[in-house]
Amino acid sequence: MKQYDVIIVGGGAAGFFAAINIAEQNPELKVTILEKAKEGLQKVKISGGGRCNVTHAEFIPQELIKNYPRGEKELLGPFHQFMTGDTIEWFEKRGVPLKIEDDGRMFPESNTSQTIIDCFLSEAKKYQVEVLYSQNVLDIQPTDEGFEVKTKEESYSCKKLLLATGSSVKFWKLLENLGHTISQPVPSLFTFNINDKRIKDIPGVVASHVEVTVLGTNLYSEGPLLITHWGMSAPSILKLSAFGAVELAKLDYKFQIEINFIRLSFEDCLDELKVLKQDLAKKTVFKSTQFDLPKRLWHQMVLASNMGEQTRWADLNKQQLEVLAGQLTKGVFNVDGKSTFKDEFVTAGGVDLKEINFKTFESRIHKNLFFAGEVLNIDAVTGGFNFQNAWTGAYIASKAIAK
Ligand SMILES: Cc1cc2nc3c(=O)[nH]c(=O)nc-3n(C[C@H](O)[C@H](O)[C@H](O)COP(=O)(O)OP(=O)(O)OC[C@H]3O[C@@H](n4cnc5c(N)ncnc54)[C@H](O)[C@@H]3O)c2cc1C
Repeated sequence: MKQYDVIIVGGGAAGFFAAINIAEQNPELKVTILEKAKEGLQKVKISGGGRCNVTHAEFIPQELIKNYPRGEKELLGPFHQFMTGDTIEWFEKRGVPLKIEDDGRMFPESNTSQTIIDCFLSEAKKYQVEVLYSQNVLDIQPTDEGFEVKTKEESYSCKKLLLATGSSVKFWKLLENLGHTISQPVPSLFTFNINDKRIKDIPGVVASHVEVTVLGTNLYSEGPLLITHWGMSAPSILKLSAFGAVELAKLDYKFQIEINFIRLSFEDCLDELKVLKQDLAKKTVFKSTQFDLPKRLWHQMVLASNMGEQTRWADLNKQQLEVLAGQLTKGVFNVDGKSTFKDEFVTAGGVDLKEINFKTFESRIHKNLFFAGEVLNIDAVTGGFNFQNAWTGAYIASKAIAK
């Protein structure tokens, strides 16, 4: 049996980050990563459309946690130990400067995820972390000295074990056998499928700031909205998909959303439309776009309000004004299914957070067993927050393990 001080199962973002930090802090430890694939860091490679959205330019822990539908409460303490600023510094110190985009997302200046991978591989080599590929861990047994870890062909023993296997249903089953509770996995970060006449012909249109409510629930979000070929996307929708991951799964992704495209109350909107009826009396409603809406979206709202392209403001009756105000401030759309958001998707679910000591990321059930990354029931909205969870957990666990 091969013996190590520390074994890390999973050579992804959290696994590599932890291994490097352990080996750097305590060079005497024999550290190895067991990765089931032929290569590691595959998600890092495809992340952020191949650019790797490493973290987010949010430097206040109390604000940062708001981006985690699962893990908000638990991550506050850890973020006080290892924050986004520490991530930036960590990479910069290793020759990987990051840049901030307008929306706060941070990427390597090189604009390619390969830079992050190269950095991890060379740091792992520098600190003599052994990385063993094609090692699918199938069994873990606690022993008097630590743990025995088995793949199909090999057995390994270690004193301390860090599990960084990401969202792996098979591995979660194995963890249940070890006595851990698993919150059932459901997808997060997806777009809504909507087949509706009002949006069918306008894919690509963006409303810069809308409010969206899922009817019959407390789910609400605001932000930009993108009309796609299949339905709707962009932060207002992705946030709902993340915060509503469990609830929307229970509804089998069939529900109704109400959109306020102009963030005015129905009454205020109606008042403004009445003024426009006077001021623009001779103009056609269709051609006089209002409320800073994209022209093509305005057209659809008008056509959905019992009027034609030639209808003039002066011709509008009370009922038409009310229907238009309704379309603009509380338009209802039927969602029927979801699609994967191509730039980033994660799974909600994983090891129950009550079973983790967040000062060290150690299991409360088995001593010397640690977790980091998506294997835990922690996930975030899009923007670099999922990786930040991996870095923070891995760093804090590495400190505890290296001691
Ligand atoms: C397309 C896409 C784009 C993304 N883009 C971003 C982004 O830009 N920014 C962001 O913050 N987040 C992004 N994410 C989310 C982010 O990739 C994950 O949150 C992050 O990779 C989690 O890191 P992890 O180390 O926990 O898991 P992973 O990176 O998934 O690594 C887990 C590793 O464990 C290995 N493993 C699993 N089971 C076993 C086993 N039994 N034995 C041995 N090894 C095993 C796997 O092969 C894998 O290599 C994206 C996700 C996707 C799918």
